[in-house]
Amino acid sequence: MTGRLQTTDVLIIGGGLAGERCAIEAAAAGHEALILSLVPPRRSHSCAAQGGMQASLANCAKAAGDNPTVHFLDTVRGSDWGADQEVATIFAEEAPIAVRELAHFGVPWSRVRGGKNHYFIKGEEVDIDEALENDGLIGQRDFGGTAKWRACYAAAGTGHAALYAVDSEVVRLGITVRDRTEAVALIHDGGRCIGAVVRDLRNGSHFAVMAKATVIATGGYGRIYGQYTSNATINEGTGASIALDTGVVPLGNMEAVQFHPTTLSPSGILVTEGCRGDGAYLLDKNGDRFMVELEPEKQELASRDVVSRHMQQRMRDGLGIDSPYGPHLWLDCRHLGEEHMRTKLLEVWDICRDFVGRDPAKELIPVRPTQHYSMGGVRVNKDGQAYGLAGLFAVGEASCWDMHGFNRLGGNSLSETLVSGRIVGRRVAEYASGHALRADTGLAFAALADAERKVADWLARSGAGPNVYEIRDAMGETMMHKVGIFRHGDELQEAIAELGQLLDDCDNAVLRCKDPGVNPELAFALRLKGMLRLAMTVAKGALARTESRGAHFRSDYPLRNDREWLNRTLVRWGAGDSEPTLRYEPTGIIDLPPGHRGYGSDERIEMTETLENHNEDVLHEQTRHGRLASTEDMGSRLRRGAWKAATG
Ligand SMILES: Cc1cc2nc3c(=O)[nH]c(=O)nc-3n(C[C@H](O)[C@H](O)[C@H](O)COP(=O)(O)OP(=O)(O)OC[C@H]3O[C@@H](n4cnc5c(N)ncnc54)[C@H](O)[C@@H]3O)c2cc1C
Repeated sequence: MTGRLQTTDVLIIGGGLAGERCAIEAAAAGHEALILSLVPPRRSHSCAAQGGMQASLANCAKAAGDNPTVHFLDTVRGSDWGADQEVATIFAEEAPIAVRELAHFGVPWSRVRGGKNHYFIKGEEVDIDEALENDGLIGQRDFGGTAKWRACYAAAGTGHAALYAVDSEVVRLGITVRDRTEAVALIHDGGRCIGAVVRDLRNGSHFAVMAKATVIATGGYGRIYGQYTSNATINEGTGASIALDTGVVPLGNMEAVQFHPTTLSPSGILVTEGCRGDGAYLLDKNGDRFMVELEPEKQELASRDVVSRHMQQRMRDGLGIDSPYGPHLWLDCRHLGEEHMRTKLLEVWDICRDFVGRDPAKELIPVRPTQHYSMGGVRVNKDGQAYGLAGLFAVGEASCWDMHGFNRLGGNSLSETLVSGRIVGRRVAEYASGHALRADTGLAFAALADAERKVADWLARSGAGPNVYEIRDAMGETMMHKVGIFRHGDELQEAIAELGQLLDDCDNAVLRCKDPGVNPELAFALRLKGMLRLAMTVAKGALARTESRGAHFRSDYPLRNDREWLNRTLVRWGAGDSEPTLRYEPTGIIDLPPGHRGYGSDERIEMTETLENHNEDVLHEQTRHGRLASTEDMGSRLRRGAWKAATG
């Protein structure tokens, strides 16, 4: 497969866990699959995942009684009722399959040890007898926002172990991977997607890949927060960006951005929730365990949005520890002991010693909340089929499938990549079986010419224009400080004005290096406008949503408002438009009625519409907004009322 025009059955843009799992399914069905990736797949961001992967295996004592329904309940509550409840059901039911499949692929899961085990729960030392017959089963640790211990883990290198195992399957199946390539545009006619234009990052050349089905699996958009993110430098949201560029595919819930409570200060490197799951706690400058008072029930293991807000407020109240890089709080792992750190939290032990020169078994870890996860992304139906364009699918963090709503629970993302990779991969394979390749060379050449024109435009600019990296840094400052953990209408207005100015600056920016080939500055410049447009969709969505839900907190509208905002934001950016257009669709069929999450505030504005009325309109409303029909009827996988047994 060489030359300017290439073909394949299934084109997968992204070689992380979601993309690779999807490719395995397509290849297993007999299709030719091609994976594109900015980096060798094993360096995808999935590799950085640390603490665990949620699945209701119920293998250890503190997981007794767990099942997919309890997992569903936790997920919907965690999402602050923003999730599609049918998708959450499918996910919770299939997560155990995904974990066991990974064991089969070779993941060295940490295992249950039968007999007496020493744990820390809510700061107290506890001895628990694990059943001898469970010895050797996949072990589980506690994580935030869950009723049971459910996070399966491979020390604190879960993503690393999972990605290497899945990538080995990709190699075994002989799936073609082209690393150091970047999809820069989708090829489509406004109704069907027939592939993508790709830039070869090794030499700067472009080629077009035409495919029966195209899958966006490009991960999150955390880097629009500049340095204030735990995400890899490649998480620039290019997949969401090229979908937005089509003008017809909407992005869902872009304002739903997660901040993780414990990233290392100042680098932003993650310190996994697994630490708090294993019993570590947070301290302020006076050594107070403030979470005990603020969240007596869940303490440090409330959901991430709740813990991040408490931490940020603590620092605003002057109770953070001052440092040259701003205030931080402490994470205390000392009582867990060296053996625990060097076995179950090995990667944390390494990271702390390597990046802040501290031994976490003996010293406190400086932490503060930082952008971590993108709940928003390419809006898809339950088959992973993008709204608006047949033949286009999205999966993993790049998608808004939408099981996370306004807050993802820790450990639910790794599970999502593998569960949805498998499900969507199957649907992609079915689509590819039922559709002939549409090799519209006219469309492909036009898209290629457009991509090359953009490069030529950047290289032709001269004079003393703004610098692309300064624009990036300014975007990060605006996003973190004005579209961050606490949001307010006035600041969001300022953010929108600043981002507008940065978009203008981007049109006038000038490169320092004019090499058309291997040129990181050019490669970044080509992405910058897309990143700014994504940032604008986040800020506009946040301004319009006059309520607080999950990670989206408006200090001027502090209540969750189920009367007016029990919906999902859809944003499109039409060709030639100076700003994006926001629309709203119902989140999905609601089975578990909105209520208290079990942590955080219990104050909210109740919905007045009956669930029957609400549910009646969902199919019609979502279809009106571009949803394409799914293989199975909407709602067919919901296990209506099953949660009643789980809530007693
Ligand atoms: C530090 C850290 C720790 C985490 N720990 C956990 C955890 O313990 N448990 C959990 O559940 N979740 C965790 N997460 C979240 C989880 O790791 C991610 O959400 C998940 O791995 C994303 O997988 P993905 O396949 O969707 O995307 P990624 O793994 O980000 O892969 C994206 C792929 O797309 C490619 N790509 C991007 N743009 C393009 C383009 N334009 N053209 C071609 N290729 C492109 C990249 O090269 C890469 O191969 C963590 C996240 C972070 C940041």
